Amino acid sequence: MKYFTVGPSQLYPIVPESIVKALRQGILSVSHRSKTFNKLFKDTTENLRLLLSIPSDYSIFFLSSGTECMERIIQNMVKQNSLHFINGSFSNRFYQIGIELGKKSKKIESAYVESFHWDTISIPKITELLCFTHNETSTGVMLPLDKIYEIRQKNENMLIAIDVVSSIPYVDIEFTKVDAVFFSVQKGFGLPTGLGVLILSPRAIEKSLFLEKSKTSTGSYHSFQSFIKYAQKYQTPETPNVLDIFLLNEVIKHMLVKGINLIRQEIDTKARMINVHVDNNQELNYLSENFSNRSKTIHVLKVLGGAKKMIKQLEKKALIVSAGYNQMKEDFIRISNYPAHSIKDMKFLLKSISE
Ligand SMILES: *Cc1c(COP(=O)(O)O)cnc(C)c1O
Repeated sequence: MKYFTVGPSQLYPIVPESIVKALRQGILSVSHRSKTFNKLFKDTTENLRLLLSIPSDYSIFFLSSGTECMERIIQNMVKQNSLHFINGSFSNRFYQIGIELGKKSKKIESAYVESFHWDTISIPKITELLCFTHNETSTGVMLPLDKIYEIRQKNENMLIAIDVVSSIPYVDIEFTKVDAVFFSVQKGFGLPTGLGVLILSPRAIEKSLFLEKSKTSTGSYHSFQSFIKYAQKYQTPETPNVLDIFLLNEVIKHMLVKGINLIRQEIDTKARMINVHVDNNQELNYLSENFSNRSKTIHVLKVLGGAKKMIKQLEKKALIVSAGYNQMKEDFIRISNYPAHSIKDMKFLLKSISE
């Protein structure tokens, strides 16, 4: 089976052997307060810092999912006013979490297949945190980072949170221009589910301290201050998903040897292959008509003959793709383009789609 699903997806090739390695090393039985775990925590965060060029004064924490990261960000970085850029289901989820936590969250909405009208956006002065979903997995729309950085430049007192769940490690973030970056590992890192990673600027940490001092709840065991206290000892507040942290470290080490530039180039190459294929195929059309909005990692395609039929036919060749999101499931398929997908596998998928 080859999984071109949006997530969980194809496992990164070294994952099976790395699971065996974890068993052999007994890592699954050690205490999360042990020296062995301390070393794993330290290695994993250091390697991630190297891979993604994360500044040394930014903090890296382990959570349980991407959605949990959204909740912790709102709790720890917003007293009242977050502003959400919504152009799909995941950005809308982020906004809803603000509302559910009793904040006065506001939204700037765009059509679900579009980006935003960046030049005419007006941002209320009281905004504390701006929330973006870099890559909308529901619609296959990717936001331009330079527009986000520009907004930051014009609103220096505001903090910026960015969801990169389905674009990391392809996306090349300039961390100094954002305050909270998060992802879960079952998408671009090709790992089993159950681990989220949150990367925070010093300003994000300061904000959480300010909220605590002003008697606003920042949560309990997963408040930023609780994370900091344990991370200083290379630990997590609770018993974490040790296996996934171990596997993440193995995959990152492999990516470091391969080189992040090559990984990104290969994703560009495969994205071009998909683009050309769709252009030449009468049966297929991108959901997003505007080329510049289209994601490189998530390709949402309308199938004229019906999505279900195509999904069934691909399954016969042991190829699994995702259906369209929610009400789009009848007519659309979604194909992921992650580091775990080889160029050869992508060729085979595209050839099979044509047949
Ligand atoms: C999958 C996804 C999430 C949710 O991540 P979980 O780990 O399932 O909580 C959030 N945002 C985006 C863009 C996603 O693709």
